[in-house]
Amino acid sequence: MVSSHEALERLREGNRRFASGVRSRDANLRHSQQAETAMEQEPFAIILGCSDSRVPAEIVFDQGLGDLFVIRVAGNIAAPSQVGSVEFAASRFGPRLVVVLGHSQCGAVLATLEELQQPTENQSRNLRSIIDRVRPSVEKFLQTELQHDLDALVQHAVRANVGVSVNQLRNGSEILERLIQTEGLLVVGAEYSLETREVEFFDCK
Ligand SMILES: [Zn+2]
Repeated sequence: MVSSHEALERLREGNRRFASGVRSRDANLRHSQQAETAMEQEPFAIILGCSDSRVPAEIVFDQGLGDLFVIRVAGNIAAPSQVGSVEFAASRFGPRLVVVLGHSQCGAVLATLEELQQPTENQSRNLRSIIDRVRPSVEKFLQTELQHDLDALVQHAVRANVGVSVNQLRNGSEILERLIQTEGLLVVGAEYSLETREVEFFDCK
């Protein structure tokens, strides 16, 4: 069993390799261990990340086949099916770490901002269900001085939106609450920078 602390360390180290352009031989080797992973899986972390094509969790953390249980959805929102996926993986495979991974210049945050500034009529109900979840994280900064600084506003909104999903996972599921209290499950937020390729973790001890 990999502890939450050790899992965080693996992710930090993997991201350091990725950011410096050195992909791990270890990760590549594990990639070839198909027979082992065909039988069972034992991911050491769960990642709830954005679908953005530039932020594939396995690559930015330099991990191999079977290492990460990844849920990707535009805007890394924690709607019921995402929470259910985290519950499933956390209770079945026993990883002790869940990371909500947002990223700079997130299109879902930008789309929500556009929608708030210029609402579209007849928008798809499905798309709206994503925007509605991101909306509070953008809306609250529109009333502040950040409204005059688009880059800063998006940056703050991305982080706030990660925080909302973290809260949802920490407090919106009996199963996860129990695992947090009794099994040392850690749920943390993080942001990937498209500019530096580095991941910054929030509020981790
Ligand atoms: Zn995104």
